[in-house]
Amino acid sequence: MNFPLPRDLRALTPRVHAWLPDGHATWGMANCVLVAGRGTALLVDTPYTAGMTGRLLELAAGVLAPGTGIDTVVNTHGNGDHSYGNALFPKARIIATEANARHLCAEPAPADLARLVAASDASTPLGAYVRRHFGRYGDFGGLSMVPPNETFSGELVLDVGGVAVRLIEVGPAHTEGDLIVHLPDEGIVCAGDVLFSEDHPVHWAGPIDEIHRATMRVLECDPRVVVAGHGPLMSPADVRAYAEYLLELREAIHSAHRAGRPLAQLSAELVGGDTRPHWGLTERMAILASLEYRALDHDDTPPDLIGLVGFAAGFAAVPADEDDGGHDGKDADGAETAGAVAESAIAGPLVRNAAVPDAVPPVA
Ligand SMILES: [Zn+2]
Repeated sequence: MNFPLPRDLRALTPRVHAWLPDGHATWGMANCVLVAGRGTALLVDTPYTAGMTGRLLELAAGVLAPGTGIDTVVNTHGNGDHSYGNALFPKARIIATEANARHLCAEPAPADLARLVAASDASTPLGAYVRRHFGRYGDFGGLSMVPPNETFSGELVLDVGGVAVRLIEVGPAHTEGDLIVHLPDEGIVCAGDVLFSEDHPVHWAGPIDEIHRATMRVLECDPRVVVAGHGPLMSPADVRAYAEYLLELREAIHSAHRAGRPLAQLSAELVGGDTRPHWGLTERMAILASLEYRALDHDDTPPDLIGLVGFAAGFAAVPADEDDGGHDGKDADGAETAGAVAESAIAGPLVRNAAVPDAVPPVA
């Protein structure tokens, strides 16, 4: 691992601790939450790699009473950055929604993802992008994929050694099988990737109305603290601001669709006119626009997820130390820059996105 991991777990209440890796403008650095009851503990989501999960277990041992183990794991959804670490909990109940389990076949196993990254062509936008964001995870520590061994639909209430835990199905939203975790006595909701904190979100199921509905479900729990799938802790006001962003984005996409604007043009406009420039991963708006166009076109064929990442990669700013001069070199005005970016999204070489100079993602 060539990136920093948390030195400690953040105490949210005496019984709840959060693993909050510094995930700004990264893919894969997901948050986890440890719920410590009397004589037993539950973990919401598991990290991406064996090494990260091992570190989390070390930190958990420092928080849990002697002899207390993590007997229950909950996966908020099926993406690997929330579930690959399941393999380090061979005796645990691993709980997810029934819809999550049904759609796991669409998720790549760790070895498949590692192979995909290693085999990617770094001279293409997609290859450069996946190496930049996923290369740091190597072979994921050789993990194998471990699916949930217990599923539910609707709502499931657990008693974790005296701590009440509500698992509430909210998918399809981010994926087909999302759930949120409500800890009513602690005033906490773990939202999984229904929410991203301080990054532009990526969603794979949608449409945006469904993400918004799931976001409002988080607020209906009346939490004091919300743990998003990625990024810093959120207040209810932060969640409301995120809901507002979703509605703004929905309106921009729907009006472009009504006006017949091509997807690549709309995506370049959204990225170039980023209304949240302090958030990372601006290019993800291209994925949201693409999925929303599919919904508006009533296209219910399975989306090409790799193709979507490749589409977004064409709109990503290229870090200075990765830029080998492959950009067009012109100081074009906004419209021309957007055109160049749109072109690169389809087939062209790496293009520095001059429209979003502040959105250069860090390289670990
Ligand atoms: Zn995630």
